[in-house]
Amino acid sequence: MVKNIAVIRGDGIGPEIISEALKVLDKVAALYGHTFNYTDVDMGGCAIDKYGDPLPEHELNKCLSSDSVLLGAVGGDKWNDVPGNMRPEKGLLRLRAGMGVYSNNRPAKIWRQLSDASPLKKSIVDEGIDFIIVRELIGGIYFGEHKTEGDTAVDVLRYSESEIERIGRIGFETARKRGKKLCSVEKSNVLDSSRLWKKVMHRLSAEYPDVELSDMLVDNCAMQIVKNPAQFDVIVTENMFGDILSDEASMITGSIGMIPSSSLGATSCGLYEPIHGSAPDIAGKDIANPVGAILSAAMMLRFSFDMENEATAIENAVSKYLDSGLRTADIMSEGMTLVGCSKCGDLICDNLRKE
Ligand code: NAD
Repeated sequence: MVKNIAVIRGDGIGPEIISEALKVLDKVAALYGHTFNYTDVDMGGCAIDKYGDPLPEHELNKCLSSDSVLLGAVGGDKWNDVPGNMRPEKGLLRLRAGMGVYSNNRPAKIWRQLSDASPLKKSIVDEGIDFIIVRELIGGIYFGEHKTEGDTAVDVLRYSESEIERIGRIGFETARKRGKKLCSVEKSNVLDSSRLWKKVMHRLSAEYPDVELSDMLVDNCAMQIVKNPAQFDVIVTENMFGDILSDEASMITGSIGMIPSSSLGATSCGLYEPIHGSAPDIAGKDIANPVGAILSAAMMLRFSFDMENEATAIENAVSKYLDSGLRTADIMSEGMTLVGCSKCGDLICDNLRKE
């Protein structure tokens, strides 16, 4: 297969971690006979320096004409004083809106080799943590009317059936590619929008008989994520609930440098990025952990290119690398051997085998 990938290296550690992700993609291409063509896109602080704009139209267009977008991270102190609408993060918002990505997918996975890093009790961690939160990204209360009149403030939470349906489908499709269990999270004991949410999810469920659908109230879900995370496969929820639950879920896995994410819309062209920022404090030192970026590339293969075996091969290579006791500084512990960012990428490539 031939795939065209727009590559946004961005700022800070972005270029370092993306180089490692591309190394791994090149190895996958060689093993499986694919061709990945990369187009570099300037976004964020580096684009402000070059064009005076965090995402000029011509750079956005490169993303829109690609098969998918791989992003490192943007931002840094250097651009703190630029006007709000020209800040590096504005490039990211413009990119998400331009691509129409309404679904943010964030896995919460604990690698058994790193189980000590979780703040949860060992007995809970030992049950396994491996689920995905599918969050609606461009609707709900964050996008409703906001107003303050005197001593009263109002934020409007509105969802239409079609908005719920399109994110619901992503939830079902994601579950179908994993453990086939979907938990729909809402607050239907109080909110009309949640009752509509629940109704649409159950209507959709008839089209996905192979996926087991369950309902959970959001307050209960927040408890269950720390009490019994092993019960979850895929969680689908609205924008604000997803915002809060996905941060809770990433915390229980223990390491920010290891977590990938994807954002998808109506087409297979997705945006893939690690959840961390540009980490200016460690940029240019070859010490960043590139695994979040490498696993983001694996998500791209699975969700945008339908390359399940290739994605699994990357995940297995990461697992073997961790098995061998090698660690970047952020996940270093006693008895392990320290490696840098570039070496980490090399080792994961060495461990890649055709599945
Ligand atoms: P950050 O995620 O960049 O860093 C937080 C801490 O985690 C730092 O100590 C950093 O060294 C460490 N860290 C992060 N990623 C790591 C990795 N891969 N390996 C090892 N250690 C890692 O968050 P921050 O410091 O709040 O933000 C720095 C900049 O990044 C800001 O300008 C912020 O706006 C931007 N940011 C960008 C994105 C994005 O591009 N999607 C997301 C969040 C923050």
